[in-house]
Parts: sequence; C-alpha cells; structure tokens
Amino acid sequence: MRRARGRAGLGGCLVAGLLGCGPATPRDAGTDLGALDAIVAPDLPWVHPDVPDDAGMGSSDGAIPRDRPSVDRELPDDPRVNVLVTDGLRGEGLPCKLTIEGVEGTRDPHFGEGDQRGVMVDRDNRAIATGRWVLMPRGRASFMLPPGRYRFRVTRGTEYDQLDLGVVNHDGRRGPTLRGELHRVVNTEGEVSAEFHVHSEPSFDCDVPLEQRVLSLAVEGVEVFASTDHDIAGDFRPAIRFLGLERHIHWMKGDEITADGFGHFGAYPLPEAVDPARDLTHDEPNLMAILDRARRVAPGVILQLNHPMWNEYPIGYWSLAGFDPTTGMSRMALSSLFDTVEVWNGHNLNEPLEFNADVDQVIDTWMATLQLGFRAAAVGNSDSHRLTHNPPGWPHNYLRVANDDPGEVTDAMVTMALRARDVSLTSGPYLQLRVNNRRPGELAPGPEARVSVEVQAPAWIPLDTVEIIANRRVMANLTVTATPERGLVRQRFELPLPLRRDAWVLARTRARAPLDRTVGAPARPMPSLALTNPVYVDFDNNGRYEPPGIQGGP
Ligand SMILES: [Zn+2]
Ligand SMILES: [Zn+2]
Repeated sequence: MRRARGRAGLGGCLVAGLLGCGPATPRDAGTDLGALDAIVAPDLPWVHPDVPDDAGMGSSDGAIPRDRPSVDRELPDDPRVNVLVTDGLRGEGLPCKLTIEGVEGTRDPHFGEGDQRGVMVDRDNRAIATGRWVLMPRGRASFMLPPGRYRFRVTRGTEYDQLDLGVVNHDGRRGPTLRGELHRVVNTEGEVSAEFHVHSEPSFDCDVPLEQRVLSLAVEGVEVFASTDHDIAGDFRPAIRFLGLERHIHWMKGDEITADGFGHFGAYPLPEAVDPARDLTHDEPNLMAILDRARRVAPGVILQLNHPMWNEYPIGYWSLAGFDPTTGMSRMALSSLFDTVEVWNGHNLNEPLEFNADVDQVIDTWMATLQLGFRAAAVGNSDSHRLTHNPPGWPHNYLRVANDDPGEVTDAMVTMALRARDVSLTSGPYLQLRVNNRRPGELAPGPEARVSVEVQAPAWIPLDTVEIIANRRVMANLTVTATPERGLVRQRFELPLPLRRDAWVLARTRARAPLDRTVGAPARPMPSLALTNPVYVDFDNNGRYEPPGIQGGP
C-alpha cells in the first residue's frame, strides 16, 4: 500500500493533504540522524502507567491503547536500551524491526531459544526479540542488552528506507535512548504486499507461536498473509488483536495440503467451517482427486503449487512428475489445475541446491511451462518455519486490489488479483510492467509491442539491471543508472519489442550484491530479485493468445 490510512484515515488524509497528495511522496530520507543526535540521554523516569498488568498473551482484551504512549519517561539509572521509532509521515509508532550487531569485538546479541521462539522483552509494548533482532509492533521497545559496542538499524521491509541509528557504546548501567523516523520511499499505491506460505505452532514441524508469527510478518511490511500449516489451521485473529495490528495486517485462513508422493499444495482462503485435517485429507488416489476435493469444500479457493522442485523428500510436484524444461516432456502429464506456482520458495536458501532448487532454475522451469501454454501465476513466499534464518516475508508478492488498506482488504480482493495473475514477487525492488498499456495477466493487442517498465527500490536494496523476457528469451537488458534521491532509486524504461508471433512478456531484476544482514540469517545470502507475471501479446490479433511451444522463440 501507499501509506497507512485505516480507521484513523481522516487524520492520515489531512496530514497527507498538507504535504501534497501526489502519487509519490518520498520525504526526507530519514537516515540523516547521526549517531550522536540519535542518542538522547535518559533523564526522566520510564514508566508505563496506562497498560493493565493483566493483559495476557493471546488475550483479545490486551490490545495496546493507541492514544496512550507508554514510552514517555525514563528512569535515571535504567540499564535498559530504549527505542522509539515513528512513521516519518504520520508521526505515530509503526511495526518495524531493530537489528543489533556487535562491533569492534562485541558479539551479536542472541535473544530467545533457537530461532523458533523469540522472547517477550517488553510486555507493555509487545516487543519480541529473536536472534539479533527486536520486533516492535508499534516502534517501541525497552530491553536489556549486555554491555558492549553495537550498531543499531531499523527496517520495515522493502518499501521503507533503512534507519541507521548509529554505533553506540552501552555501558550496561544507563541505557541509551534511540529515536528516529522511518520513511516510506516506495509508492505501491493500489497494491498490497502478501505472503502465501508461512508456518507456525500448529504445524508438526514448527514451534513459532502465533503472535510471534504475526509480528514477524508485520515488521517486514507484509499486509496480507495466508497461514499455511501442514494439514491444520490455527486462528490468528486473537494474535493480531493482542498485538494491536488490526490496521496493519490481514489474515487469510489457509492450509498446506501435505500429500507426500504427490507434492505440497497451498490452499487459501478457507471458509470458517473448513477443518483441513478433516476436510482436506490427502488420501485420495491421485492429484486430481486431491485438488477437486479442495475446490469442492472451499469454492473459490486458490490452489498453489508449493516448492515444485524440492527433491529432498517426495514433495516437489515437478520433480516427481519428471518434468524436463529443455524438452517439455515429463513422465506424468502436468496438471493445469493450479492457480499459482511458488517459483521462489525462501526455504531454498537453507537447503543444499540438490534438495531445493535455486530460484533461477525454478523460474526457468516455470517459463518452460509458459511455453507450453500453462498459465499459473508465479508467486514467491518464504515457507518460513523460523523467525530468523528463514525470514518470513522474504520474498513476498504485490497484488492489485480495490482497496490497498490492510485494514479493509478482503479475501475476495486477493483471490481476484491472483486469478487475474496481476501479481509480482520480490525480495527487494518493486517492479511494474505494462505492454501496450496492459497489465500482467492481460491480453495485449499486437502486432506492435511497446514495453513500459518502472522499477523502484529503497537505496539500501541492491539493484543493477532490469531484463525484459519474451517467450523465454532475454530481449533487453536495461541498466539501472538512476542515483538515489531521498532514499529511493526509481527508473522508468520504454522500449519497442520486435515480435514475430504471440508472446508472453515479463520483466525481472538482477543485482550482483545480496541483501544485507538486517534481512535475516539464511544459510546463503538473500538475493535481491523481482519478477512480474507476463502480459500476453496477441501478435496476429486473432483475439486469442497461442503459446509458442517449448522451443518457440519470440
Ligand atoms: Zn511444503
Ligand atoms: Zn511449507
């Protein structure tokens, strides 16, 4: 979305109006707070008079009172580190993530048990710490940290500039107070960010508590998520209320149909009454029966082909089917019943590549299916079973919706966008493609094809080139030369595309450098990559798109 509105929308709009309501509103870059300016010596008592002590975990009554800041005074000898981050536009606290790194001999902190269970470090502000991160639902936290020298950075996913709070000496007796503003620099008006494959405590193979899962997504700027535990579905609404995040994140009830031998399939949204363990069982004799059953019990459900090339277990459908992207042949005929394909499964960064194929390999294989006429939309999800080394929301998706306010978006808006294939995936840049003014998923009239692509990325996200690909061939390799302005790199390209037949046309970004250590701690560095779904060009204007075949060029 472009900026928070929600129920406090009137105030937000008034503020926006004063600042100018134009489409792009990158303001001060927000990183100009030098280390010294960012540290305010605490000289007032630190108390939290307004939040009742009995606000329990998971309690729907425990929502944080928004109009009563709990960080307002500080104790003279408070050893805790105090953090206060506000939205540069609205001035209020917002979900964000603090990364703490030890420097000059100080070790990184490690909060929580392993990386599936963070620890509540500030109950009043619902701040949860895990690994070297503190996740803050409203930009505030007060917590203990061993003495040392630390670098503090704050992030909020891929639409915000990074806030560098500098390097601070913490003597362990009197904690520093770190303040700053986060600035949204990327304009995604009309779209929401979404994650369609995450696990939590209900899964047999995951221990992340529900409220920690919700918070871990919200601090990455994820606005819509489908919970997809293995053959089971929890209720995430109490967790969202407990964190006070109703205006920031929308939950869809979902499931990962775990049919080893056939594959794993995301199914969302599910009606309230559907119990995946009972209604979406996977003891059917074949794949079609499994998918048919899902559509019967959950009309309108999106069926997503998860990690199609995971080979460690018999759970990758394309691998099991023996699909060869070079010849287009397979041992079993590929099903065309999927709405979406997870071409990037973030879990792959923690697996050897022979276990869970590299994203480029999966994208290329998906392109081979496009050659054959398959139309499932590409999506990217984390498949996170963790909090840190398999960071949730990396990658995620952008969808065109009628109302991009996460407090107002509905399941139906999300499924409509996915069915229209109007979706792009990203771990960094925000990429928008039009061909002859048509959006991804649409049919564009030929024979001329004029490509218009715009890329935006916060300055801290690596970005080198944008590729235009038609019928599996790279038609243009466009170098991003724009210099960052107010924390944003933004460039637009227009070019004609010489075609000789009907073609699918899409765009993707490349970057040599990976993302930095604020993102998470996967075993291999997280690449910066964005990919759109294709616009289909009807070159011969016969009113329909004809796929080129496995070897057919553009
Ligand atoms: Zn799976
Ligand atoms: Zn999974």
